[in-house]
Amino acid sequence: MTYKITLLPGDGIGPEITQVARAVLDHVASLSGFSIKFTECAFGGASIDQYGEPLTEKTLKACQSADAVFLGAVGGPKWDHAPERPEMGLLALRKALGVYANLRPAAVHPALADKSPLRPDLVAGTDVLIVRELTGGIYFGERERTEDKASDKCTYTRAEIERIARVAFEQARLRRGKLTSVDKANVLETSKLWRAVVTEMGQRDFPDIELDHMYVDAAAMHMLRHPASFDVMVTENMFGDILSDEASMLPGSIGLLGSASLGDQRPGLFEPIHGSAPDIAGQDKANPFGAIEAAAQLLESLDEIEAAKRVRAAVNAMHEAGEWTGDLGGSLTCSQAGVKLVERLESQAVAA
Ligand code: NAD
Repeated sequence: MTYKITLLPGDGIGPEITQVARAVLDHVASLSGFSIKFTECAFGGASIDQYGEPLTEKTLKACQSADAVFLGAVGGPKWDHAPERPEMGLLALRKALGVYANLRPAAVHPALADKSPLRPDLVAGTDVLIVRELTGGIYFGERERTEDKASDKCTYTRAEIERIARVAFEQARLRRGKLTSVDKANVLETSKLWRAVVTEMGQRDFPDIELDHMYVDAAAMHMLRHPASFDVMVTENMFGDILSDEASMLPGSIGLLGSASLGDQRPGLFEPIHGSAPDIAGQDKANPFGAIEAAAQLLESLDEIEAAKRVRAAVNAMHEAGEWTGDLGGSLTCSQAGVKLVERLESQAVAA
C-alpha cells in the first residue's frame, strides 16, 4: 500500500519540524509494511514569495488529491502587511477540504508534570481531547461595521451540530466513554439548539456514552481546577478556539501538541498547534513533538493504527528518558530529536 501525502512545510520553523515529521513517517511506514509518496508544495508566506499568493491552484489540487495533508506552520512578520496574509491560505485550505472537525488532544505525560504552569498534582492524569467545530459559527457569520456600531452574527444549523457531535461521540467511544458538551445555553439561542441536538443524539445513538453539559465559563474554570476530569469535550467554533488554547498550556510547552482537522472523507489536514515561531526559526531549536503527534493523528486517519502507536510509544520513551529540546529544559536540537526518535522506533521494533 502506498499513501499520497502532501507536505506543506510553510514558514519559520515549519520546514524544520516538517523534515523531522517526514523522516519519522517514512521510517514507521517501512517498519509497518506500507510506503508513502510525499509531494512537497509551497504554502503561506513561502508561496507568496514564489507565486504572489498563499495558496495556489496547483497546491490546492495536490492537497485535494492526497490521502492526507501535513502542514508545518505559516506566517511571520515579513508578510504581516502583505495584501493577502499567509494565514488566509490556511483558512481557504480548510474550507476547500471541508474539514469541519478539529481534534486537539492535550495529555500530560507524568515525566512532564513539573513543566506545566499548573501544579503537578493538578495536571496529573490529564488526557483531554477537544473537538471543535471549525467551519461555522460567529467566525463565518454575516458581519457589519460602521463608525459607531459593529455586529458579528452566529448561526448554527441542526445538520452542522449533528455532524460535529457525531465525531465527538465516536471519539468518546474510542477513549474513556465520557463526553462534555460545552455551550452557553443559559443565554444564547445557538447554544440552546446545540444542547438540544447533542442531548437527542446521545439518547438516540450513543446511550453508552456518559454525556454531560457545561457552560463555557464553567468549563474554562474546571480546565484549570481539575483538568483530569475531562475525557472528550465538544464545542462550537469560538468557544473551542479559546478552550483549546487554554488546554494547550497544560502539558508544558506549545511545541508538544498536534491537531487533526477532519471532514467526511479524506484527506484530513494535520498540523502542530503552534505557529511559525519566527523568534527561533532557522536555529534548529524547535520542539518537533507537536508535529510528530500530528503525524500520529495522520496515521490514524489512514487506519494505520499500529504505526501511530509505534510513534507515540517512541515519543513516550523519549519523555521517560528526559530527551527533550530546549523549551522543556533539554539539550537536543530539533534535528537531533528527530534522529533520536527514529532510533527509538528502530530499537522498539527490534525488541518487539
Ligand atoms: P507561535 O506559536 O509561533 O510562537 C509562540 C511562542 O512559542 C514563541 O516564543 C515560540 O518560539 C514558541 N514556540 C512555538 N512553537 C514552538 C516549538 N515547536 N518549539 C519551541 N518553541 C515553540 O505563535 P506567534 O508567535 O503568536 O505567531 C507567529 C506566527 O505564526 C504569526 O505570523 C502567526 O499568525 C502564525 N501562526 C500560524 C499558525 C498556523 O500555521 N497554524 C498558528 C498560530 C500562529
